[in-house]
Amino acid sequence: MNAILAKKVLVTGGAGFIGSHLCERLVARGDDVLCVDNFFTGAKANVAHLLGERNFELLRHDVTFPLYVEVDEIYNLACPASPVHYQYDPVQTTKTSVHGAINALGLAKRTNAKILQASTSEVYGDPEVHPQPESYKGNVNPIGPRACYDEGKRCAETLFFDYHRQHNLNIRVCRIFNTYGPRMHPDDGRVVSNFIMQALRGEPLTLYGDGSQTRSFCYVDDLVEGMMRLMDADDEHTGPMNLGNPGEFTIRELAETIAEMTGAKAEIVLKPLPQDDPMQRCPDITLAKSVLGWAPTIQLREGLQKTIDYFKALT
Ligand code: NAD
Ligand code: UDP
Repeated sequence: MNAILAKKVLVTGGAGFIGSHLCERLVARGDDVLCVDNFFTGAKANVAHLLGERNFELLRHDVTFPLYVEVDEIYNLACPASPVHYQYDPVQTTKTSVHGAINALGLAKRTNAKILQASTSEVYGDPEVHPQPESYKGNVNPIGPRACYDEGKRCAETLFFDYHRQHNLNIRVCRIFNTYGPRMHPDDGRVVSNFIMQALRGEPLTLYGDGSQTRSFCYVDDLVEGMMRLMDADDEHTGPMNLGNPGEFTIRELAETIAEMTGAKAEIVLKPLPQDDPMQRCPDITLAKSVLGWAPTIQLREGLQKTIDYFKALT
């Protein structure tokens, strides 16, 4: 690896769950990676194994403040992603998405870097179109408890496309659907980590509502492959592009599968459905398939087993 010729890649939120896997892949292929994080939901431990690599660097920084570095590519992932974490300080969540996007886009403009935004299926809100294609404009409550995240991410998409139109920036926007795998935060309250941790601790699995709401779960390795392919695709492919696994499950099915796989005598208890909790979610990935030749390869049980093994090692 020649550090002088290597592509300089900035990953904001690089010490988080998805970011750490992305950094790992970029370092492995020889890019010169700068990982930036304020460790709000991420942790140094997630990238500790990369610290000895000469093409990896870690910087504590809050993306709501400007950053002056020289880069060729930017993956903008900084933002808490679990409802529990992003609702903890909702004003800061919106600032992270919006000011973070402005700062990242300003940096891309100054350095002429290509920039990818980690957007989300949450831009579709509680969708009335199913599965969700990129052309669907969404059904988001702008004043509800999820709005700090949903509207922050929608505004970030707006900024990306305005910088593209106004300043000719080379942008990519992917809309990520529920992704899971090792290095999820064990207490982030997201359904996969929550159910696995509850099962491993011998606690009841908390099913919100009647569990008939659906989600589609993508294993992190598949997702990272899709993000990198989008960054490397021809310049006309700005997105927005859905990245997710179209296999759709009810949350009750997920609870039963995790209970069975962990061998837990796990009882399931019903809890109230949180406000504005989307009833269904499933990506239409026709665009990603045709443009990137990408589709997830890891089935739910296979991915869950790797995730269960990771959490077992933690407990
Ligand atoms: P995560 O919480 O593990 O990672 C987010 C990272 O951003 C953390 O390391 C956190 O410390 C960092 N961060 C937060 N605020 C920051 C700030 N102000 N300055 C610097 N760093 C900051 O979550 P994740 O699941 O890895 O999500 C990564 C990205 O992907 C997020 O932008 C999220 O919105 C998006 N996404 C994730 C999913 C999913 O299912 N995991 C789905 C849709 C979109
Ligand atoms: N959920 C649940 N029990 C939990 C955590 C989550 O039933 O302990 C449900 C939640 O109400 C939602 C789905 O699982 O319908 C996915 O929740 P998550 O927080 O993982 O992400 P979301 O897709 O809602 O952003």
